[in-house]
Amino acid sequence: MYDWLNALPKAELHLHLEGSLEPELLFALAERNKIALPWNDVESLRAAYAFNNLQEFLDLYYQGANVLRTEQDFYDLTWAYLLKCKEQNVIHTEPFFDPQTHTDRGIPFEVVVRGIQQALKDGEKQLGISYGLILSFLRHLSEEEAFKTLEQAMPFRDSFIAVGLDSSEVGHPPSKFQRVFAKARSEGLVAVAHAGEEGPPEYIWEALDLLKVKRIDHGVRAIEDERLMQRIIDEQIPLTVCPLSNTKLCVFEDMRQHNILQMLERGVKVTVNSDDPAYFGGYVGENFAALYDSLNMSKEQAQRLAQNSLDARLV
Ligand SMILES: [Zn+2]
Repeated sequence: MYDWLNALPKAELHLHLEGSLEPELLFALAERNKIALPWNDVESLRAAYAFNNLQEFLDLYYQGANVLRTEQDFYDLTWAYLLKCKEQNVIHTEPFFDPQTHTDRGIPFEVVVRGIQQALKDGEKQLGISYGLILSFLRHLSEEEAFKTLEQAMPFRDSFIAVGLDSSEVGHPPSKFQRVFAKARSEGLVAVAHAGEEGPPEYIWEALDLLKVKRIDHGVRAIEDERLMQRIIDEQIPLTVCPLSNTKLCVFEDMRQHNILQMLERGVKVTVNSDDPAYFGGYVGENFAALYDSLNMSKEQAQRLAQNSLDARLV
């Protein structure tokens, strides 16, 4: 990491807490909860982090999340991420959590949300990191399942600020979740959604028009549709871009082909984020460093990207 990049105050707007589970913590939690793992050690687990697409990653991600059982586990997971934020001068974060990843394997909703919430509160007090938590629905599951999750979440309504949509994109368009997003918005929750990562620009249109999102997560395929580009520029709709994730999951073959700076220069409100840092090779800082190393990002561009992230906060 470069000192000048580290020193920039930044916000992170696209981070899955479950995706920040580092192999060392994964092994420690497995031991604490007496869970057998299919890997012998941290090194062989890291070696499994070679993905050809989103689905290959997700299969491993859900397997990893299985070690998270108690409130303390969710606290420790969140706290470890916040320490990284502190180290890299991320002063505000809006992380996602996927309750269905846990409730579907019998972990009560309140165990998940209480552990995360306590760590976020402590992080604000002790580390000075402000936050807003986002509840994300798994899009490979049905809208009915999402409705159930929203219902379970309502007693904890004050714990989060928004709903999101993640997991396997292709074949699960935003339109599938139109009704549950309308319900969430009627409860005063803001909407965001993953769209245009592997899925086509049409999914971004749907997220905007049907789910009425305030931000698009990823959105890098917007560049294929000029009318869409014009709209996200005119309306200054933020895109939460994740460069290392995109190259790890082969959305771009190589970082040198990434379009984030091209979008920035067109006037799109792009931001830099880590997505699932434990799996994709780094946190916000490493993502910025990758743009500097591979795309000749200037200091002025880095400042604009960091400022965009602060401007695009929901709270
Ligand atoms: Zn994501």
